[in-house]
Amino acid sequence: MTTEPKLTIELVPSTVWYSSMYQYYKKTNNPKKWSEIKEALFAKEGYKCWTCGKETRRLEAHEFWGYDDINHIQKLEAIHHLCGLCHKIKHIGLWLHTEDGARMLQKERLTKEDVVGHFCNVNSCPKEDFHKHENEAFKVWNERSGHQWKQDFGGYKA
Ligand SMILES: [Zn+2]
Ligand SMILES: [Zn+2]
Repeated sequence: MTTEPKLTIELVPSTVWYSSMYQYYKKTNNPKKWSEIKEALFAKEGYKCWTCGKETRRLEAHEFWGYDDINHIQKLEAIHHLCGLCHKIKHIGLWLHTEDGARMLQKERLTKEDVVGHFCNVNSCPKEDFHKHENEAFKVWNERSGHQWKQDFGGYKA
């Protein structure tokens, strides 16, 4: 793949784990804000996955972050609804590389092959491309996890 695939892996640096918009609303005792974001997404984007277009009512809101690797600023660029499989690709570290992830996958009656297969379907690419993309994503993650990040919640923070 020479261009960025449609469905990408987005690993959040370990230094900003648990510091998402979702967590912020939870910590500040404002979980209602998160439901409002979801309601607004249903109203604006309908009942389909932002990335693969799958129509379903079971959608998960994902935070799309941008990274300024020079000034180490992590910026929340958008929140969109994703289907379960697209969302698992985003957080592939959890789903395919931890015991918790393995347990949760099993609970959903899914296999690693289902997750990787979804990446290949959406991006119309062979499995090797998934592995290349994944290696690259972990390399970037490693580098970014060595830094502290300033966070910018963009227009989302009330
Ligand atoms: Zn999807
Ligand atoms: Zn997410």
